[in-house]
Amino acid sequence: MLSPIRLVSEAAEFAAHRHNGMARKGRGNEPYINHLAEVANLLATATDGVDAELVAAGWLHDCVEDTDTTREELAQLFSERVASLVAECTDDMSLPKAERRRKQIEDAPHKSPGAKLIKIADKISNTGARIQTDPSAEERDDLADYVGWATQVVAGCRGGNAWLEEKFDDAVKAARALL
Ligand code: ZN
Repeated sequence: MLSPIRLVSEAAEFAAHRHNGMARKGRGNEPYINHLAEVANLLATATDGVDAELVAAGWLHDCVEDTDTTREELAQLFSERVASLVAECTDDMSLPKAERRRKQIEDAPHKSPGAKLIKIADKISNTGARIQTDPSAEERDDLADYVGWATQVVAGCRGGNAWLEEKFDDAVKAARALL
């Protein structure tokens, strides 16, 4: 078992390599790694750094869904819990988008406490990236659509961390001010 600092550091480097060259959705074509850094840091702050596996899973939460990484690889390199947290946050990409979104709302209340926190942090980061000054009509529609859906997912994840929930509510408020 890796020490807590090594676990997080290895996860960050692994994610940086796997998502290399990818850009995130939203403002200014930011490198994908910015999203992962934001999610991991929200999780570290929300839990005051006591749960290294959760922070590592924050770095890794999109790598099974978006790269050729497997759950088994994560279990071997990190830990069974890290792999399981990431698996809980991985959509079945063989389903159409509307179905994946519906499933996220439906499944959220049944996730583990750690996976719920990752989901909230993910929605905070993705909402923030869609908030831009002077949005075009298309960007505004995308923001409204995303926030409406994310609010429903987060509703099923509440009760574990008041600070993180407040961060999400703040992001929604900032988004609604633009709509
Ligand atoms: Zn994500």
